[in-house]
Amino acid sequence: MLIVLLFGPPGCGKGTQAALLADRFHIPAVSTGEMFRAECQAGTELGRTACAIMHDGGLVPDEITNAIVARRISQPDCANGFLLDGYPRTVPQAQYFDGLLRERGLPAPVVVHLDVHEELLVARLTARRQCPACKRIYNLLSQPPLAEGRCDVDGAELIAREDDREATIRQRLSAYHELTGPILQWYGESAVHAVDGGRAPDLVAKDIERVVLEASLRSSAK
Ligand SMILES: [Zn+2]
Repeated sequence: MLIVLLFGPPGCGKGTQAALLADRFHIPAVSTGEMFRAECQAGTELGRTACAIMHDGGLVPDEITNAIVARRISQPDCANGFLLDGYPRTVPQAQYFDGLLRERGLPAPVVVHLDVHEELLVARLTARRQCPACKRIYNLLSQPPLAEGRCDVDGAELIAREDDREATIRQRLSAYHELTGPILQWYGESAVHAVDGGRAPDLVAKDIERVVLEASLRSSAK
């Protein structure tokens, strides 16, 4: 049974790493967004409430998020473990999750924090461009278009979105630190495994894999 919590700032490559890790350990990678959407589509009472709140641009309250997570991790595909991306998002959620795992006799989670230098994140994120015609996203550093400044599909001139401007990105990064700092602190320095996410994705994946294997061996030896 392997439970992994993956934390990391916008632009750190968390989505890619979550997918690689899920594949490697044969566990589902579940993001909060996905969980909410699934509940919405299933039309459950929880889902309808969460949907309505998100539709109005609000934050789904802890008790609803917690209930959705509790239900999601009871599903058969989570029997051998799971990876959560985007949860817990607050200290009360972390406390609730801790209690839930104990109550169900599940092991403590392996907490991984993808650490990337802020200037590198800013460089990565400000390199994003979008085609105004077909909405395709490019990255001048990692996925540049074939012809400079032009969409591969339709030749339209690529633009930088408002979301990808430096000031907006710095704001998002500081919001991330304000939100996540206390959660990592709550888990405690010795329980949080920092991995340098500023390198090539396959190197980062190898590091995470090592950290997860070591941490799960330690917890099963206890
Ligand atoms: Zn296009």
